[in-house]
Amino acid sequence: MSLRIRVLGSGSDGNATLVEGGGARVLLDAGLGPRQLVERLESAGVDPTALDAVLVSHEHGDHSRGAAAFSAKWGVPVGGTAGTFAAAALPREKLPALVALEPGQVRSFARLAVRAVPVPHDAARPVAFVVTDGDVSFGHATDLGHLSRGLVEALRGCDAILVESNYDPAMLRDGPYPWSLKERILGPFGHLSNDDVARLLEKGLGESCRHVVLAHLSRKNNHAELARMAAEEALARAGRKGVQLTLAGVYGTDWIEVRRDVPPTAGADRQLRLF
Ligand SMILES: [Zn+2]
Ligand SMILES: [Zn+2]
Repeated sequence: MSLRIRVLGSGSDGNATLVEGGGARVLLDAGLGPRQLVERLESAGVDPTALDAVLVSHEHGDHSRGAAAFSAKWGVPVGGTAGTFAAAALPREKLPALVALEPGQVRSFARLAVRAVPVPHDAARPVAFVVTDGDVSFGHATDLGHLSRGLVEALRGCDAILVESNYDPAMLRDGPYPWSLKERILGPFGHLSNDDVARLLEKGLGESCRHVVLAHLSRKNNHAELARMAAEEALARAGRKGVQLTLAGVYGTDWIEVRRDVPPTAGADRQLRLF
């Protein structure tokens, strides 16, 4: 079995990631306007009515902006924590269905299971997602101030991860943001830096992980080359040659296919049994 992932938008202009597998399709975050979401879904060859759910990680506009209008127009259920529903002021009565998703809980759509994992961010009960078809897993973590132990554990079992690589620390320090905002981003409930991601890739990446997507890069406080270099160097230090690295731009990514490699010993075993 396999998962297909496609980032439809990434960064402060709007985040959304499409995940297909196990007979279902879910959109993780809906931070683009409803019309833009439809355009990007259609350019991915996906009909908006074919989605099983839109799951919102937290209430910030770049993750939730289009959720209510998209859901109401296309009849797609919206999911999130009670904190997200309250803080985003999602109009429950206008939505076709709600999917309550509390940290630690799993919700299933056909054979696709989605687990919410709490993350440290300045929002009301924000979560990361781990999506699995029972065989292959994908972890989706943007907007978090530091890598909590629970999240690292959850990502360790994933075959693919999307993680924010929001800022280069020197660019943020020397950049144009007011100090209060810099403090917020740098703080334990802000965002992850390229260095944070490098530490995760060097020390915390699970053995089965073959795909890493860097997402939510700041336009003012990061450069794609800096994020890529930090991640590549970390993977090299960890001796992880087989990991495919993808940077999600403002318009997202192409499809990424995630399937588990056949363990090299399987063929050898069969050969042995022949003799
Ligand atoms: Zn964000
Ligand atoms: Zn946020």
